[in-house]
Amino acid sequence: MIEVKVPDQVAAMRAAGRVVADALAAVRAHSAVGVSLRDLDAVAAETIAAAGAEPLFLDYHPRWAPSPFPGVICASVNDEVVHGIPTTRRLASGDLVSIDCGARLDGWSGDAAISFVVGHADAADLDLIDATEEALRAGIAAARPGNRLGDVSHAIAAVAHARGYGLLADHGGHGIGRQMHEDPFVPNEGRPGRGLPLRAGFVLALEPMLLAGGGRDYRTGADGWTLATADGSRAAHVEHTVAVTEGGPAILTLP
Ligand code: MG
Ligand code: MG
Repeated sequence: MIEVKVPDQVAAMRAAGRVVADALAAVRAHSAVGVSLRDLDAVAAETIAAAGAEPLFLDYHPRWAPSPFPGVICASVNDEVVHGIPTTRRLASGDLVSIDCGARLDGWSGDAAISFVVGHADAADLDLIDATEEALRAGIAAARPGNRLGDVSHAIAAVAHARGYGLLADHGGHGIGRQMHEDPFVPNEGRPGRGLPLRAGFVLALEPMLLAGGGRDYRTGADGWTLATADGSRAAHVEHTVAVTEGGPAILTLP
């Protein structure tokens, strides 16, 4: 069942989304060569706590995972795509880092992710990140009443394919509200004009995951959580929580 949010509820979700955006901005500002992923996790934890919110990822334990998630953020580096654990690993110059963060404030959830390079950036990595952000913008632009879910999925995939990148198999966005993961699942590939008609009041987390090697296959790390590209190529992941409104798409995870 897809819950339709009324405008007051969307406003409450925007407040939760702002906490997530602030946490991501703090993590990015703190990122530098030599800083550990665990340090970045602490920065996000402090930002969320200071806002009176609670982290959504910490102790999250879906059926497929071997253990509860041990971090406030997911930190996925280089060939890691998503669900990376914030370990004591220290960032090195040229690392491509994807940070995913979720928080709940006053009962409402926000979920967003950013990708960036630490230190000296390789042009290929910057292009991959740029394409991933472009795919997200395209998906957001399609999230409007009168469109269908397939229009959003197609918009994301069209950018990825036009720029020569692959999309992670089996993973995509999701509805979000009181829970971090609600219906519907939002594939990152789909057929335009097909699927669920979008209504004002739907709130969706859109999250393209692009693979530099052009493939879609992944392997799960020994920790049972981290997903890395099967071909070892680099990956980028960006995400916003977006409300479908009569006036068009509204991004809720902004500072
Ligand atoms: Mg996320
Ligand atoms: Mg998400």
